[in-house]
Amino acid sequence: MSRRETASTIAARKVDPRGRKVKILATVGPASSSPDMLERLFKAGADAFRVNMSHGEHSVHGGTIKAIRALEKKYGRPIAILADLQGPKLRVGTFKDGQAVIRHSGHFTLDRNPEPGDETRVCLPHPELFGILEKGQRLLINDGKIRLKLIRASEDEILCSAEVGGVISDRKGVNVPDAEVPIPALTEKDRRDLAFAVEQGVDWIGLSFVQRPEDLAEARKLIGARAALCAKIEKPMAIRRLHEIIEMSDGIMVARGDLGVELEPYEVPPLQKKIVNAARTAGKPVIVATQMLESMIENPTPTRAEVSDVANAVYDGADAVMLSAESAAGEWPEDSVDMMDKIATQVERSEDYRARVRFLDTPPDATTADALSHACMTIADTVSISAITVFTSSGSTARRVARERPDTPMLVLTPSSKTARRVALLWGAHAVVTKDIGSFEEMIAKGKRMALRHGYGKAGSKLIALAGVPFGTPGATNLLHVVTLTGDELEKHGA
Ligand code: PGA
Ligand code: MN
Repeated sequence: MSRRETASTIAARKVDPRGRKVKILATVGPASSSPDMLERLFKAGADAFRVNMSHGEHSVHGGTIKAIRALEKKYGRPIAILADLQGPKLRVGTFKDGQAVIRHSGHFTLDRNPEPGDETRVCLPHPELFGILEKGQRLLINDGKIRLKLIRASEDEILCSAEVGGVISDRKGVNVPDAEVPIPALTEKDRRDLAFAVEQGVDWIGLSFVQRPEDLAEARKLIGARAALCAKIEKPMAIRRLHEIIEMSDGIMVARGDLGVELEPYEVPPLQKKIVNAARTAGKPVIVATQMLESMIENPTPTRAEVSDVANAVYDGADAVMLSAESAAGEWPEDSVDMMDKIATQVERSEDYRARVRFLDTPPDATTADALSHACMTIADTVSISAITVFTSSGSTARRVARERPDTPMLVLTPSSKTARRVALLWGAHAVVTKDIGSFEEMIAKGKRMALRHGYGKAGSKLIALAGVPFGTPGATNLLHVVTLTGDELEKHGA
């Protein structure tokens, strides 16, 4: 066993409260919104919860958020809540019989007539689409199950031929992958949902169908600093401006569901790697989402291919893996979280995980913060370090350290519960909310005390303390200190 694989690795396995670096984000829905089930999911390994604003009433979401905050209090552990906005999801209108069959190779028309549709036509209640779609472009309905090709479009009618027909029913989703849709990323519903979510104190806002960096600017104006912003990458258009979009966001989601409809499914895996790498390089948390354990919606065990999919996202160094319907509407929500936890733990214990997760070259930016974050790695690779304690108000130091994907556990100490909750989606970060720190001596004493109390070291263990002084200036990391625990810090200073 190499020196790299000894003390700090073993410490990492035993003392991280979850025993893993990657985080689990579980979507809440009818199968999981009860306080009892939320607690079970948390105990099974959920570090963060997604509240999906596409479904459900504000009153139900409010109840969910309250229950999650109660859990947080009960277990003394910050939990991230991500409110996911529906975004400009396009849908057809309704049908006379609730549904109709579109014939293979037949014609089908989308129009502005609100009358219920039939096998020849249906209303497309999005005026913005008329006049911008062009001949040859595709319209994909119901997750791409029905594929239409545009023959002719006017101000009132879009005539298509059905390359693949099938059953179409009320309000099914429509994707138009070939066009830049002139619809802002925030609909009226999104604005209402956003105001509600921010008022409820959620930590992250998920923005769906982001197409341009400007979409994020608009959301940011409304949110301010009250929540972090996660851009869901699910449009081909967003891939073209990926770097600018990452620049404008606090986090990224690889939203493979819609991305795999807008593109071909086989185009998604290389893009998943590209997006994960780009976000990692930028030091922004990245979530891999959708269909990860899909068959567990109905079955207590996943397919081997699904297990591999989760495992590979962990090997890729994603910050978080997500459960969708598995935890929101499936029959086995708790088992799904438990399975994800087991897969991640197994991968992270594997011999080559450490080398694999550090495959990505993330050279430090020319900043003091990055120089010190990088130095943490060198130190921990040379001497045995039981934890990197990061003092941060905004969380930026923690993100720069996580960007290096250190094997050594990271204990984030912050006076801000907002920051502590946000980093629940950050790779390898375990956050504890502490009182504000006044002096250097106080910082070191607190770091030692918290490391001992949270199981990040014992007598003789070395810690790295990383901070910016004066305290409270975001992004001003300028101090790295190595200290040795004597073991009696708790008694001497009290808890
Ligand atoms: P959704 O987003 O579950 O809100 O559609 C994720 C995805 O499209 O993959
Ligand atoms: Mn989506």
